[in-house]
Amino acid sequence: MIKIGIPRALLYYQYYPMWKTFFEELGAEVVVSPPTTRAMLAEGSARVVADTCLPVKVFLGHVLSLVEKCDWIFIPAIRSVQSKVYNCSKFLGLPDMTKAVIPESPPILDIDIDINKGKGELYKAIYKLGRHFSWNPFKVRKAGLVAWQTYLNYRELMSSRKLTPPEAIAKLSGSDGEEPKTSSFHPASARATIALIGHPYLIYDEFINHRLIHRLEQAGNRVLTPEVVAAQELESAINRLTGRAYWTYEEEVVGAGGHYLQSGADGVIGIMAFGCGPDSLMMDTVRRQSARLKATPFMCLTLEEHTAEAGVVTRLEAFTDMIQRKKRKEAKVCV
Ligand code: SF4
Repeated sequence: MIKIGIPRALLYYQYYPMWKTFFEELGAEVVVSPPTTRAMLAEGSARVVADTCLPVKVFLGHVLSLVEKCDWIFIPAIRSVQSKVYNCSKFLGLPDMTKAVIPESPPILDIDIDINKGKGELYKAIYKLGRHFSWNPFKVRKAGLVAWQTYLNYRELMSSRKLTPPEAIAKLSGSDGEEPKTSSFHPASARATIALIGHPYLIYDEFINHRLIHRLEQAGNRVLTPEVVAAQELESAINRLTGRAYWTYEEEVVGAGGHYLQSGADGVIGIMAFGCGPDSLMMDTVRRQSARLKATPFMCLTLEEHTAEAGVVTRLEAFTDMIQRKKRKEAKVCV
C-alpha cells in the first residue's frame, strides 16, 4: 500500500481529517510525523535562513522526520480558500521551498488550491492529485466528497462539542485517549476565563508554545480557543473590526480576538510568531480594539525558537495576576 506522509505542522490542524480521508478513500495509508521535538526544530532551522518564521522551520523539521518513512509527502500550496482573501506567501511556496531545501525528501504530492480561479480549476486540481492513486474520475470524485464531509463534521465537532483540533482529531480517529487533552471546561470553579487567539499551529504545538494551555489550566483557568466560536460570530467580529477579511485564516486572529474582547473572556492572549507579516497586522488590529474598548485585558506573546520557557511563564503569571486583581476590584465596586 502506498504510504503518504503528512507533517504534523502548519495546516495539519485545520485539514488533517479531510486529507486523511481523501487518501484512505483512494487506498493509501497515511503516516503522520510525531509531535514536535527540539531536535526536529533544530534540523528544520538548519535548512533555512534565520529570519524564516518559526512555524515553517518546525514544518521542515517534520518533513525531515518523515524521510524514509513514506513513499510521498503531501504538501499543498494553498493560495486562497475564499474569494479575494489571500494566504501568507509562505503557504504558496511551501512545496517548492521544501523541494529546494530538503532534496532527500520523498517525492512531494502537491495541489494548488486557489478558489479565485473558480470551482472548475479546483476540481481539476483535485482530480490531478487523485490520479496518482486512481484513473477512475468517479472514484476520485467520491473520495473528494467524502473528504469534504469529514471536514464539515470536524468543524462541527469542534464548535458544537467545544473541542480543540487535537481532541477532535482523536475523537474522529477513535483514539480519544491518545491525543493530549488540551482544553477543559470548569465554568463554575475557574479562576478566570482566558481566550487564546492565533493560528492552530502556534496554539496547539506544545513544544512551540511551552505547553501554554496546560499551564493556564494547571493554574485553575478555563481556556477558550478560536475553534469553539461559531463561524457567524467570527465573521461578524471581522466585519466590525476591518470591514472584511483580507487574510486567509483571519478568523483565528481578528475574528476570535474581536469576539472574545467583547464577550466570554476575562482576558485575551494573542499568540504570534516572530517575523510574521500577516499576524503583525492582524494582532495590531486586535490590540487597537482592546485599547478602544478598555474592557478586557489583552496580551500578545511572540514566539520564536529562542523564546525561553521562564519568560513565557513569567508573562503568563503577571497577566493572570492582573486579571485576578481586576476581578477583585470589580467585585468590590459591585458590593
Ligand atoms: S502566517 Fe506568519 S507564522 Fe504563519 S507561515 Fe506565514 S509568516 Fe509564518
